[in-house]
Amino acid sequence: MTERIVQSIRTVPELRVEVAARRAAGATVGFVPTMGALHAGHAALIERAAREHDLVVVSIFVNPSQFNQISDLAQYPRNETGDVQLAGDAGADICFVPDVEAIYPEGFATNVQVRGPLAETLEGSERGVGHFDGVATVVTVLLNIVGADVAYFGAKDAQQVLVVKRFVEDLQIPVQIVTVDTVRNDDGLALSSRNARLTAESCDQALAIPAALKVTADAISDGSATSVESGRAIGIERLRAAGVEAEYFAITDASTLEPADELTGTLLIACAATVGGVRLIDNLTVSANREAATARC
Ligand code: AMP
Repeated sequence: MTERIVQSIRTVPELRVEVAARRAAGATVGFVPTMGALHAGHAALIERAAREHDLVVVSIFVNPSQFNQISDLAQYPRNETGDVQLAGDAGADICFVPDVEAIYPEGFATNVQVRGPLAETLEGSERGVGHFDGVATVVTVLLNIVGADVAYFGAKDAQQVLVVKRFVEDLQIPVQIVTVDTVRNDDGLALSSRNARLTAESCDQALAIPAALKVTADAISDGSATSVESGRAIGIERLRAAGVEAEYFAITDASTLEPADELTGTLLIACAATVGGVRLIDNLTVSANREAATARC
């Protein structure tokens, strides 16, 4: 593989010129949108894009419009130098690092809204529908700027992937959306830019989140959970044992995010909890084994 040298670009016209030149030379384009503070989870997306495309663009933009609390936005970690290094090491060719005015110029008055359970449950109900309006709007703008063939998103934000797939299809944006599995620490904690703010003690407590998801998923697959409520109770109990109160611990249909009525089909187990002042989300997908569940009823 030829060595890639990462280039930082801050303005939309410069990015368009660069991508157009590479496209004219026959390059396919992979795109990884991020909010920076990059870690091995982001690297997995960039590496996948680099395996599959000649040109890889990574955007680093902390999108103000998707934060419902100013304090959360203010505390969001930023490390541009380290980010560009990590992105380049993972295979990025271009880091697009726009300032807020480049994305939302004076007079910006458009909002992309996805409605229904995809955007209004879980994160949408906890953070408000404005959260996914902010995500949908910025991702639409970024997809239009970059004009990628494929954009890569992490399963860690499973609801975000579903929302993005929905508006990309509805608005007929010519891009393919690919989901990359969640990258975890050895202890199971999903990597997140927010983990940097966890103390050693709250880090231990945070491990209850992947543990609760796993015990619930195991109980669903082996049939020991006989109903959605008993599945949820197992996970919530695991969280409580670690002193963690969930904002939500939900079992939903994995494609519609409607609350599951029974343990059948492909289910998403999703959890949000604040640990040591840091809000964390995580999820697991599980295929419910109807025979096992029914046999034990
Ligand atoms: P963020 O910078 O948090 O907006 O994340 C940018 C992209 O990286 C999103 O598509 C996330 O879902 C993805 N991502 C974040 N953490 C992980 C992880 N631990 N594993 C896989 N993808 C991740």
